Amino acid sequence: MYSIASPHKYDGHDCHSEKHTIVNISLAGNITEWIGKGAANKHLPVWYLSAPKDFRIGLLSGLIDTDGTAVWVKAATKKEAQFMMSYHTMSLRLAYEVVTLAKSLGLTAKITKYKEKYYNVYFYNRDLLSEKLPLSLAHSANAAAYEKFLATTPDKKSEDKLGRTDLVPFGQIVFERAKKLLPGATKKKDRDPKQFSIYVTMQRALKTGCITRSMARDIMNIAAEQDKLSQIPEFWQELVRDESVSWTYAVSVEKSSQKETLYDITAPGPYTFMTIDGLVVQDSVGIYVPVTHAAVEESKKFMPSKILDDPRDYSVTLKPSHDMQLGLFAVSTKGDKKPDAKFNSLKEAEQAFLRNEINLSDIVTINGYETTFGREKLKEVIPAGVAIPESGIDKSKVDAFLREVASKDPQNVNKRFADITRVAAEYVAASGIGLTLRDVQHSPEFMKPFKDKIKKDFAKLDDPGKVKFLSNMIGDFNKAGKEWIKDNVWKNNLATMSVAAGKPGLDSVKQLKFAPLAVMDEEGRLVPSAITRSYSDGVTASDFWIAASGARKGMIDRALQTAEPGYFAKQMISVAVDQVVSEQDCGTKNGIELPLTKSKMDVLWRYGADDGVLIDNKRYEELLRSGKPSIKVRSPITCEANEGVCQKCYGSKANGSPVEIGANVGTEAGQVATERTTQLTMKSFHTGSVATSGPTLASGFDKLQQLSHFPDFIRDRATLARLDGIVTDIKPNPAGGMNVFIGDERHFCPVSQLKVKIGDKVSKGDALSEGAIKPQELLATKGIRATQDFLIDEMQKTFTDQNVPLNRRSFETLVRATTNVTKIIDPAGSEYLPGDTVQLTKVLAYNRLNPTRPIIHEPELLGIDFSSKVTDDWMAKLNTNRIQSVLQDAVASGGKSYQHSYNPVTPYIMGSEFGKGEKGKY
Ligand SMILES: [Zn+2]
Repeated sequence: MYSIASPHKYDGHDCHSEKHTIVNISLAGNITEWIGKGAANKHLPVWYLSAPKDFRIGLLSGLIDTDGTAVWVKAATKKEAQFMMSYHTMSLRLAYEVVTLAKSLGLTAKITKYKEKYYNVYFYNRDLLSEKLPLSLAHSANAAAYEKFLATTPDKKSEDKLGRTDLVPFGQIVFERAKKLLPGATKKKDRDPKQFSIYVTMQRALKTGCITRSMARDIMNIAAEQDKLSQIPEFWQELVRDESVSWTYAVSVEKSSQKETLYDITAPGPYTFMTIDGLVVQDSVGIYVPVTHAAVEESKKFMPSKILDDPRDYSVTLKPSHDMQLGLFAVSTKGDKKPDAKFNSLKEAEQAFLRNEINLSDIVTINGYETTFGREKLKEVIPAGVAIPESGIDKSKVDAFLREVASKDPQNVNKRFADITRVAAEYVAASGIGLTLRDVQHSPEFMKPFKDKIKKDFAKLDDPGKVKFLSNMIGDFNKAGKEWIKDNVWKNNLATMSVAAGKPGLDSVKQLKFAPLAVMDEEGRLVPSAITRSYSDGVTASDFWIAASGARKGMIDRALQTAEPGYFAKQMISVAVDQVVSEQDCGTKNGIELPLTKSKMDVLWRYGADDGVLIDNKRYEELLRSGKPSIKVRSPITCEANEGVCQKCYGSKANGSPVEIGANVGTEAGQVATERTTQLTMKSFHTGSVATSGPTLASGFDKLQQLSHFPDFIRDRATLARLDGIVTDIKPNPAGGMNVFIGDERHFCPVSQLKVKIGDKVSKGDALSEGAIKPQELLATKGIRATQDFLIDEMQKTFTDQNVPLNRRSFETLVRATTNVTKIIDPAGSEYLPGDTVQLTKVLAYNRLNPTRPIIHEPELLGIDFSSKVTDDWMAKLNTNRIQSVLQDAVASGGKSYQHSYNPVTPYIMGSEFGKGEKGKY
């Protein structure tokens, strides 16, 4: 420590201030922690509010002295000078803290932003006068101004002035009600000027979400004069009357720079996680505190090792990484026979292995029977009775193998999987699988038949002919590639890895070892040129340029195509997030009829609607033998649970046990559907520009968007019958398209391919022509249930068309969420109002309880970005991207939030009671 005493002038006085420099790292650390570093990060120490009042007054005085002012100013427009005390900072956090500090001392303060990065905090004169705080301002000008101000008496005028800056929240509901009290405002003739001025102010207030308290009082007075005060919402009246609470505009919504503790959980496998703003993070999730210990424990339960069923197709979720998979294949494969190698124990064999006398996969005799050392090591860690596949555990067998391990020893699944992973990791190095240059060496003998054919015929063809030639050849080329991979396991590491772990895939093997053969241009069309050399062989300059535009498209697609599906995923999960398993059995007798033979996956692990029996593999075989074509099963779409879905309607896990109450099956379904869209729209990047046989999901993704956003315009739209009847006539429409008559009713079909002929019987809502069906039209003609079935089928089909079979149950859960909107026509005895937009499931539940006087309502298709906002829990809506308007609406309409909610966002925001809570709620 050292000190400097330097006499100087300060504020006109001679000062002998002393500067003490103390070198102390931990003290410096504390101070930095307390007040932050740099102007923009400056803040008050966390304990500032718990300090004694004297300290807080001192703190405020110090702040005003350093970065604040207390002055009398005379604005050009004003007659008299006014006192003004304010504080200036670059740190938004500090500005808010000063407001809170002021509040703790009985002062009201307001923040305004200027020049984009500065914040001014203004203190209300009314409070300064009434509190008369003994601020110890060291700066003499400040002190004098403040003293002079305290000596003034509050005048009526400044009271009124405050009324004009004192704000209360104002929103759509109050606006609608108040508008009706101002009939004179909107008249063209004899307009009431006072009413008109209130009306205009209200309109402006709608935009800001706030209105002055004095104007609010005027509105209430007008209502009272007309004896219609009861029409103004009660909560808003209270808000206006309660002057002890002051309101201000939200200046801006910004990220805090505050450090928080982060639990970063990374998971293998296809799991995606959702954060509070609906952001989907692949494979890993950051969980911020504050969360309770119970919540941390719960999140661990979501680790894949605890979840064995992949919700997409009920396969085992825990999949070893690429390396682990290679190791598992290495230890389980059978190789060459070594008849001389005989051991009396595994220990003996192990010693021989360590001496390099035998390989992992050599077939040897241990304890009198033929096996391999690798298989015996694996046997040590798996339950007795689990069979190791004879040909080894390759990519195609790993699911069944792990599932068997899990089902034989369900109690110790985690330990078993950890042990298997350990054994695989231990021997992956010993297996000798690793890429060498030899593996990617060009193979002329493979390419020869294709090259010969190209040499013979290709040059003669015109461009369309070349494209046709190449697209025909791709099929044969792929087939030959697949066979080569199969034949070269343990001979070529590319082939071994491809079979053992699925990577590299066929397309990559083709590029590395053989040749791309055909490439696509930036429009996705085949280029009429054959590339017959591999990347390892070295492509020619012209081949390089041919491949370049398509390859560039791959790069651009990666950037563009991940953004849209990412946003789509966010919206989808936002809308499905409150689909939580809420009770054991809603007791419905309803269900959906599913064909038995079309897709086993769709029927499996559901309950029969009539008998309540779970359809497991055994029951499924029984049903097949019974010869019935279809079965009625319980389904999320017909579930009658008031909130979320019930265990019975959702169906069981793939091991037959029920899905736990509290499980968020909506988020899961959202992940199932959206995770694949991201992957598949990215396909063009992963395979470069190489032409593959399958189509990409780009068109499928557009369709999926259509099925969940319900746009007004759909290209090539099908025409639906507006009534039941017989097709009496079909005539070409003079301006194009066709006219189909049902009775006398003309139906114009812009798409000329018709689905009906004269004499056909049609029902209202049937498609008369080919083309895309507009869900809104289907809703208007066939009702909500038929529309939901249509949406479910079409969504599932979008994926099936791309060879991505996903189970139907996920789409039933999603559509339950995306169509959960209805408009109240006649509220009957309920507390809704006509015109309210509310959750369909709630109205249906009400009507089941009140069959004699049901609510009359009209289901609506609003699209996923709107339906997520149709909830009465305002905090749950923060999961959407209009945070500021959600906040303002909630305040202005008396929004409620339920901590025990089916929507996990509420407890997430509260940072408490995260978990399954009471009665299965979050
Ligand atoms: Zn149910």
